Amino acid sequence: MTPIETGPKKLFDLYPGIERLSLFVAFEEADAEAEPNYQQIIFTEDSVAAFRLECSRDDCVDGGFDYEPFIDELIRSGAQQAQGRIACPGSLGRQEDGSCCKLLSEYRIILERKA
Ligand SMILES: [Zn+2]
Repeated sequence: MTPIETGPKKLFDLYPGIERLSLFVAFEEADAEAEPNYQQIIFTEDSVAAFRLECSRDDCVDGGFDYEPFIDELIRSGAQQAQGRIACPGSLGRQEDGSCCKLLSEYRIILERKA
C-alpha cells in the first residue's frame, strides 16, 4: 500500500487568514560595508508555503535560513510586519576544523490580512 501524497502545503492551508505575505531577504558578509540588497519573495494564497532558503555560499554545509518560525510568530502576534536578522548555522568545508558559516540574513516580513 502506498501512502497518500498530500503534496506541499499552500499558504492558505497553513494560514487561512492571510491574503498575501511578502518576505524581503538580504544576505551580507559579517564585515560587509555595503547596503544590503533585498530580494522580495511574494506568497499569495496559492503559493507553496516554503519559507526556507539555501545558503548562498557554495562551500557551506548543512546551512540555510528558515524564516518559518518568524512568520509563524508574526501571524500569531496579530502585527502587520516584523524584521530581524539571523545567521546561517552551517559550516564551511567538510573537515572537522571547518569554520562556522554565520552568513547574516536580514529579513522583513509584511503581511496583508484578509478584511
Ligand atoms: Zn551558510
